[in-house]
Amino acid sequence: MRYSQLFGQTIRQAPKDETTANARLLVQAGYVDKLMAGVYSYLPLGLRTLDAIADIVREEMDATGGQEVRLPMLHPKANWVATGGWDAIDILFHVPSRTGREYALGSSEEEVAAPLALARLQTVADLPLAIYQIGWKFRDELRSKSGLMRGREFLMCDMYSFHADQADFDRHYATMKDAYLRVFRRLGLTAKVTEASGGAFSDKISYEFMVVTDAGEDDILFCPACDWCVNVEIATVAAGAPCPICHDATLRAARASEVGNVFDLGEKYSRAFERPVRGASGGTVYPIMGCFGIGISRVMGVLAEICHDDRGLVWPAAVAPARVHLATLGSDAAVVAAGEDLYRQLASALGDRQVLWDDRSVSAGVKLADADLIGLPLRVVVSARTLAGGEAEVKSRDAADARRVPLSDVVSGLPGQVAR
Ligand SMILES: [Zn+2]
Repeated sequence: MRYSQLFGQTIRQAPKDETTANARLLVQAGYVDKLMAGVYSYLPLGLRTLDAIADIVREEMDATGGQEVRLPMLHPKANWVATGGWDAIDILFHVPSRTGREYALGSSEEEVAAPLALARLQTVADLPLAIYQIGWKFRDELRSKSGLMRGREFLMCDMYSFHADQADFDRHYATMKDAYLRVFRRLGLTAKVTEASGGAFSDKISYEFMVVTDAGEDDILFCPACDWCVNVEIATVAAGAPCPICHDATLRAARASEVGNVFDLGEKYSRAFERPVRGASGGTVYPIMGCFGIGISRVMGVLAEICHDDRGLVWPAAVAPARVHLATLGSDAAVVAAGEDLYRQLASALGDRQVLWDDRSVSAGVKLADADLIGLPLRVVVSARTLAGGEAEVKSRDAADARRVPLSDVVSGLPGQVAR
């Protein structure tokens, strides 16, 4: 991939209307473009990172037995009236039609997933069932100033599960909790799980997955010994108090961002759509429904908040849009030729998508600054100076110093997480 051909290059000035690091960096580095507050276009580099996060989530959802579907974003009003959400959920976009009908833009998909799945479930023997999708959602936020962390339009993975009884929901929740924590570990994030009220969705308990970051919108208290965690909003304990669970440590306060949530919806949806199934020994059973969400675009914003320094983004290899940033400095023909040869070798070893070659005719200073801003895991530089020794300069984005490597050893010497 030649940088000179890339749609969505870096821009010189940081955008003035973005107040958060994730939006400022992602816009300036050419990953996204703001259409309006809370709504972004994803440019080629940004889409790759978004897709990489989605792929990790998809793998872990498949591993739990979830089956992927794609649900509509435009919903009939009747489904939202049936559950009370049309009037009760203030962030729901209402869309009038010239036909006189009204529609909702999905802020979540229970109103579609529940009737879809329950119509195909006949008896408790058909349970449990878990379907999920990765799709765009809409929220009529009053304020949307946190870049990708609070979008009016955002990408989410939402799973809907159906169970014969509470014990089966609890079993599935335990499986999903492990899957979520694996997702966040693979993304290089440390997530903590809190219990919270179900809010507008349910009067039952819900679980929030929080990542500690100063850019977060929530205050949490957590125990460093047993990992117990609570959202300050609902807490009856305070920082410095002994942990109510293990009593081994005192609670610490932190800012955090909610990156995932789980709602135990009980029988609300199977009753709202009047869709019971036959019980094992006759009679009817109203299935219990669970909703499990991970904000994919939100996670990208959180990663940008956590994984950057004063020069730009510092992506973990698992979600970087490419692994190697090759820069040829100067217009010396021998440098360009050596760079092109190295580009071919790297592209052949890793795949063309994994190598970004800055082949522009711009100054060395601009190229090195852009490499730092874009934040790929490994930078390889070829210049007249390195070429004099038959070498390239290789530097990990998160390392302080570069090292010289013979040109013939660059590919064979790639660090593990880059070579994979
Ligand atoms: Zn504890």
